[in-house]
Amino acid sequence: MTAKVIDGKAIAARVREEVKEEVAEITSEYGMPPGLEVILIGDNPASAIYVRNKGRASEKVGIRSQTHRLPKTVTTEEVLDLIDELNADETVHGLFVQLPVPDQVDEKALQRRISPAKDVDGLNPVNIGLLSLGEDCLVPATPSGIIDMLKREDLPIYGQNVTIVGRSNIVGKPFYMLCVREHATPTICHTRTRDLAAETRRADILVAAVGVPGLIKEDMVKPGAVVVDVGISRVDDPSTERGWRWGGDVAFDEVKEVASAITPVPGGVGPLTIAWLLKNCAKAARRLMSG
Ligand code: NAD
Repeated sequence: MTAKVIDGKAIAARVREEVKEEVAEITSEYGMPPGLEVILIGDNPASAIYVRNKGRASEKVGIRSQTHRLPKTVTTEEVLDLIDELNADETVHGLFVQLPVPDQVDEKALQRRISPAKDVDGLNPVNIGLLSLGEDCLVPATPSGIIDMLKREDLPIYGQNVTIVGRSNIVGKPFYMLCVREHATPTICHTRTRDLAAETRRADILVAAVGVPGLIKEDMVKPGAVVVDVGISRVDDPSTERGWRWGGDVAFDEVKEVASAITPVPGGVGPLTIAWLLKNCAKAARRLMSG
């Protein structure tokens, strides 16, 4: 069997079109576009690229976007003051801090301070609690995008065994909760999982969000499984002009021979994440503006 390669870019383009329409409606109804503000701390080049891409994507769908660049020596208090200011600003509907933050900055304190109504990353404990309760809330973009992608591809989730490798707050744990909401049977694995291959081989849907390139090999995948690769790492590759390439957590060439569907890296989950960040911003704006 050779897997269907899921085109994350095409799905993301459709999601962005939907967001664009929603943003146009919101803007004409309330006389103001949704506003997305990003706090970028320090000079991590990868973070700067992510923030630039998110800003450009926002503007393309009509969301006003602004980045607040803070020096890498900033204190937690100074960032909290900025968050307070943006929480109080009625032209701001979505707000997030680009991760990672420097060691002296208390990331959890920042996430607790962002207004739950503007928390487009879905990392405020209020949103995490609502997600666990199965109530409407802002959910992290990557897991939301994956569920939506599976639905758009007509891949069943209901009743399926789902194995998630990686227990981060931004991907693994919220994806687990969404699986419960969708009536799947999820299992979550991490560095202390005793027999990872035994867990991954039970999966009808296998999601890898680890950051270890090529961790998931062919013999760890049940024939016919759907494989979703969230990992993005730089892998040395002398055959390329720049000497490296992006690599996922899944050994793509071998796993695509056993899976029924698979997401590539790049061009799989990455574009969906940005599209869903925009969708979260439009959702937050609609709720805030409709009072
Ligand atoms: P993380 O980096 O915070 O944590 C990694 C997780 O993997 C941990 O829970 C750890 O227990 C687990 N893990 C590490 N090694 C393991 C092993 N050998 N066996 C089993 N479990 C192991 O997680 P994250 O922030 O979710 O990021 C994971 C990867 O996904 C990274 O490559 C990141 O760049 C990528 N990512 C991509 C997107 C996207 O939009 N495509 C979004 C978020 C994260």
